[in-house]
Amino acid sequence: MGTKFIYDFEEGNQDMKELLGGKGANLAEMTSMGIPVPPGFTISTETCVSYLAACEYPKGLSEQIDEHLASLEKKMGKDLGDPEDPLLVSVRSGARASMPGMMDTILNLGLNDRSVEGIAAKTGNARFAYDSYRRFIAMYGDVVLGMKPQSKEERDPFDVILDEKKKAAGVKQDNELSSDDLKDIVAAFKAEIKKRKGVDFPQDPQEQLRGAIVAVFDSWNNDRANAYRKKYDIPAEWGTAVNVQAMVFGNTGEKSGTGVGFTRNPATGENEVYGEFLINAQGEDVVAGIRTPEKLGELDKYLPQAYCELLKIRDVLDSHYRDMQDFEFTIQDDKLWMLQTRSGKRTGFAAVRIACDLVDEGIITPDEAILRVEPEGLNDLLRPIFDNEAKEQAKRDGRMVATGTKAGPGAATGKVVLFAQDAHEIKAQDPDARLLLVRHETSPEDIKGMDAAEGFITQFGGATSHAALVARQMGKVCIVGCAALDIDYDKKKVTIVTGDGTPVVFNEGDWMSIDGTAGEVYQGMIETMPSEVEQVLITKTLDADKSLVYQQFAKLLEWADERRRLGIRTNADTPGQSEQAVAFGAEGIGLCRTEHMFFGGDRILAVRQMILSDSVEGRKEALAKIFPMQKADFEGIFRVMAGRPVTIRLLDPPLHEFLPHEADDIADVARELGVSVEEVEERNRRLKEANPMLGHRGCRLGMTYPEIYEMQVQAVIRAACEVAREGVDVKPEIMIPLVGSSREMQVMRELAVKAADEVICAEKSEVKYMVGTMIELPRACVVADGIAQNAEFFSFGTNDLTQTTFGISRDDVKGFLPTYIARDIYAVDPFQRLDQEGVGDLMKLAIERGRATRPEIKLGICGEHGGEPTSVKFCHKIGLNYVSCSPFRVPIARLAAAQAAVEDKA
Ligand code: ADP
Ligand code: MG
Ligand code: MG
Repeated sequence: MGTKFIYDFEEGNQDMKELLGGKGANLAEMTSMGIPVPPGFTISTETCVSYLAACEYPKGLSEQIDEHLASLEKKMGKDLGDPEDPLLVSVRSGARASMPGMMDTILNLGLNDRSVEGIAAKTGNARFAYDSYRRFIAMYGDVVLGMKPQSKEERDPFDVILDEKKKAAGVKQDNELSSDDLKDIVAAFKAEIKKRKGVDFPQDPQEQLRGAIVAVFDSWNNDRANAYRKKYDIPAEWGTAVNVQAMVFGNTGEKSGTGVGFTRNPATGENEVYGEFLINAQGEDVVAGIRTPEKLGELDKYLPQAYCELLKIRDVLDSHYRDMQDFEFTIQDDKLWMLQTRSGKRTGFAAVRIACDLVDEGIITPDEAILRVEPEGLNDLLRPIFDNEAKEQAKRDGRMVATGTKAGPGAATGKVVLFAQDAHEIKAQDPDARLLLVRHETSPEDIKGMDAAEGFITQFGGATSHAALVARQMGKVCIVGCAALDIDYDKKKVTIVTGDGTPVVFNEGDWMSIDGTAGEVYQGMIETMPSEVEQVLITKTLDADKSLVYQQFAKLLEWADERRRLGIRTNADTPGQSEQAVAFGAEGIGLCRTEHMFFGGDRILAVRQMILSDSVEGRKEALAKIFPMQKADFEGIFRVMAGRPVTIRLLDPPLHEFLPHEADDIADVARELGVSVEEVEERNRRLKEANPMLGHRGCRLGMTYPEIYEMQVQAVIRAACEVAREGVDVKPEIMIPLVGSSREMQVMRELAVKAADEVICAEKSEVKYMVGTMIELPRACVVADGIAQNAEFFSFGTNDLTQTTFGISRDDVKGFLPTYIARDIYAVDPFQRLDQEGVGDLMKLAIERGRATRPEIKLGICGEHGGEPTSVKFCHKIGLNYVSCSPFRVPIARLAAAQAAVEDKA
C-alpha cells in the first residue's frame, strides 16, 4: 500500500496534531469521546507539503479522496452532487498550531443550480437553501477564484452586492432577506464571477471539491499566513491539513444557530460560561460582527435543550483536555454539534488563574502549571492599569489620537513635559506631580527626568531604543516610534495629526494618557491604578489576602522557585530599584551601573570638573568630591541587598557623554567651573569620537585614568565596611567592563585589589569581595582561559557582546533590521532574543575555557537577554549560575528558569 494521505475522524486522536493539524486531531479526539461531531476526514499536513513542493496532487491522493468521500456519503446517506438531496461539506484548513482566521475555509460545498432547488424542495425552506448557496458562491469566489480583497481600501465584491441588495430590500440584517432576494443575490454573485474572472461558477461538485482542497493547500503560503507564522515562530515547512466534513446548518431558522465559547473566561480566567452566539446564522457570522451576537448564557432562553447539552460538553472538554478550551458549535433544529476545540489563547491574568485553579481542582500538577503560563504574560499582572470603563469612554469620545510601538506595558496619565530636566524639577517641587515625558528620543542624561515621569513617549526609536530600555528597567509605561508626534521644543507644544486629519495640540502641562500595552495615545486624563501585585508588594496599599491575583501570582512563583536551578538577580542602580527587585524575588544584583549615579544634582558638576582637568591632581580633587556621594549610593544598596551579592560595574561609558553639548549648558559649566567657554569646547572636541561604542570606554578608562577606578573601588569597599559594621552581611563584587585581553584583566585586578585592600586594612574590616569581569567582546570569549586567571566571575554583557559579535551598532539597526527579519536572514532581532547560534556559541566557548582555568568560576548574564524567556532557558542549558534582569522582569525570569528545569525532567 502506498502513503496514507487521509484519516477518517474515527482514526485520529489529539496526539496526532503534526499529521492532522490541530483542528483535525481535535475533531478526531472529540469524535472518539462520543461528542456529537459531524463526520468527515482529514487530509494530512504531509500531503499539503508534497502538493506544495510538486504543485500537483501526489500520486494516489485522488483515489483516496474518492474512497473516503464514498464512505462519508454512506454514513450520511446522501451523495455529493445528488440533485434531490445532496451531501454538502465544508473544506477547512487546520495547521499544527492554531492560526486563527489566517487560512481559508469553505462551507456548503456541493451546492449548484439544481441541488439548491432540491434542498429547497426537500426542506421546504427556500430561504435556507439560497442563503447557503449564496454563502458558498461568495466563499468559493474569494478563496478559490482569488476575488478576496488584497488591500484595506478594497471591499469584498460579494459584500458590496449583498449590501446593495439589503438596502434595496429595506432590511438591516442579512437574515431578514427573503428567498427571492437571496435568489437575486446568487445570480448577481455568479455574474460578478463571470465578469471579473471570465469563468462560470463551477457546477460540478467534484470540480468544486478539488478547487477547494487546492485552495486550502495554497492558503498556507498566502501573505496573511506568512506574516502570522513569522510573528509566532511557526515553521514554513509544516503545511496545513485539510478537513472535509459533512455540513450541519445553523441557518435553517429560529431553532438553529451558531456560536463560539470558552470553557473559562479567557480575560480573567474565572470558571464561568463565556461565549457568544447568533440564532439563524452560519459559520463565522458571530466573529465577523455581521449582527451583534448575544452572550452565551442567553442561549438558555432560546434553545434550552441544546444549551443544557452545551454546558455538559463544556465541562467534559475542560476536564478531558485539562485546560481551558476555545470551542465552536452549531445548532441545527435544536440539535447541538461541536465543530472545533483547542486550547484557548488567554491574557496573563487568565493564564495564572487557570493554572492555579487547575492545580487546586486536582486536574494538573504544579509542574504542569508552570509550563502553562507564558512567562511574558506575567507582565500583565505587574503593570499599572487604566480603569477599563474610563478608557472605553475615552475611545468613544474620540480622544484616542495616535498609536506607536509598545515599549513598556501598562497605563500612564500625566501632564506633558518636553524636557527631562523640567520633569525632574517639577517632581522635586511637587512629589505628587504626574508627568509624561514627550521627546524625539531620550539619552542617558535624561535619566532623572525619566524617573520623575509616569511614562514616556518618543517620536523616533524602536523597541530597543534608550527610552524602551529604560522603561523596562524602571518599569515605566512607554511608547516609542510614535510618528504622529510633532514636537516644537521652542514653543513647548506637541501637535498630533489624528487619523481623520484634525490636529490636536498639547501645550506643556496639558494632560495626556498612554496605554503602553496597546500602544495607544489619548488626549486628556484617564484614571489609572497600580497593579494589584504592586499594591501588595511595593506600595503595600493592599493586603495579600484581599487579592486573589496576587495570591495566585505568588503561589505560581513559589512553585517556580522550588524547581529552578538558575539564580535570579537584577540590574539595579539605586536602593529604590533594588528594593523593588527584592520584593519581586531578586537574589542579588547582577549589574549595578555606576554612571547613572554620576548624573545627579551637584555630582555632574564635579564629574565635569574631573573630565575637564588636565592633571592627575586636578582629577583627584574632583574625584574626592564625588567619593562621598558614590559611597552613600553603595551604602544604600548594600543595606537593601543585605546578605545578597551585589555586582558593581566600574565606569563604562566614554567621558564625553558627561559633557554638555548645547551652547547654554557649555556656558553654564564654564562659569560654574571658572574656566573659559573655549576650554570646555576644546575639551569636547578632543573627546569626540567617531565611534564611541568602540572607543575610549570600559576598562580603557581605568587604564588611562586609574584614579577614577581607584576612587570607585574605594567608595564600594568603604561603603561595604561601614554597612558591615552595622551588622549587615555585604557581598560586593567588583566588575571590570570591556576586558578583551588577559593582561588587561591582570592590570585591572591589581588596581582593584590594591585599592580595596588598603581600605579594608585601614578600616580593620573582615569584608570579603570578589573581582571579575564583564564578558562583552568576542576576543574575551576566546582568551577566557587567560582572563579567568584574574577573574573570579564572568558576567556576560550580551548587549555589547551581540553588537560586537554581529558588528552591528544597536542604535543603527533601524535601516536594515526589518528587511533582515522579513527576508529571514535573521530569525529574530538578536538584541531582543539571544542569538544562540553565534553569540551563544561564544558564550559556551568562554565558559569552557574559563572553567578550564578556574573550575569554580561564577557565571552570569547581565545583558537585557537575562529577562527574556527563551534566552533565560538557554542560560540554564549552558550552565550559568544566574541571570540578571531589570526588576520588573524578575518574576518572568523566575518562571522561565523554572520552565527550563521542568522541561529538563521531561
Ligand atoms: P477557522 O480556522 O478560521 O476558525 P473553521 O474551519 O473553523 O475556520 O471554520 C469556520 C466556521 O465555519 C466554523 O466556526 C463553523 O462555524 C463553520 N463550519 C465549518 N465547518 C462546518 C460544518 N461542517 N458544518 C457547519 N459549520 C461549519
Ligand atoms: Mg476563519
Ligand atoms: Mg474555527
